[in-house]
Amino acid sequence: MKKPTRILLKLSGEALMGHQQYGIDATRLKDYAVEVKEAFNLGLQIGIVIGGGNIFRGLQGTDDGFDRIQGDYMGMLATVINSLALQSALEQEGLKTKLLSGLPVDPVAESMSSRKAIQALEENYVVIMAGGTGRPYFTTDTTAALRGVEIKADLLLKGTRVDGVYSDDPEKNPNATRYSKVTFEEVIEKNLKVMDQTAFTLCRENKLPILVFNMNEKGNLRKILTGKDIGTKID
Ligand code: UDP
Repeated sequence: MKKPTRILLKLSGEALMGHQQYGIDATRLKDYAVEVKEAFNLGLQIGIVIGGGNIFRGLQGTDDGFDRIQGDYMGMLATVINSLALQSALEQEGLKTKLLSGLPVDPVAESMSSRKAIQALEENYVVIMAGGTGRPYFTTDTTAALRGVEIKADLLLKGTRVDGVYSDDPEKNPNATRYSKVTFEEVIEKNLKVMDQTAFTLCRENKLPILVFNMNEKGNLRKILTGKDIGTKID
């Protein structure tokens, strides 16, 4: 794998719960901040999109009787809360950060623009892109794909709680095997689960490679960035 110089890291909001049932686990947050610092120290420019599933998801709201659009805005605001927490944790690790949002939330964050994001990356800020796309009916995976393309990232790293992409659901099928590398076409042919279709298509059409890996194992981000064969690369 050619060494990336600019990455888009997608962190799941759900993973921020750690062992809790809800909200933000301070230890997990710090672990993430330390991992990001290690990646930064390798000389990378880093953009981050974090989800909101630990606080609210629009679709979950519709089950409880909320209007879908209202629920989606609640989800987008949840990503702003997580982004603020992450910004604070990264700054405690001594990193310079810039928080940009797809959903206007002045004075909490400046509004997202690709030019602003790229300029901040070039000035060695870690750029957190909050607020989703700013529109309902999308996910933060799609936001990550969109922001990855917008900032001209070389790689989208999707941090999850599984080791990568498997031939079948590893939690149900003990014979499921992990792919180390697959093409975008193989993902479609074999109907593999990588990201939602909108996110996947954006990456595929704009030739943004994806690497799915387990972010909850300490040191994994650095391992990937130093060429260890973990996770699944899709390109
Ligand atoms: N969301 C949205 N538009 C976007 C991004 C996110 O409406 O562009 C809402 C949607 O309701 C979603 C929620 O924000 O369920 C939280 O994001 P997601 O579920 O992707 O978070 P994750 O699963 O990564 O924690």
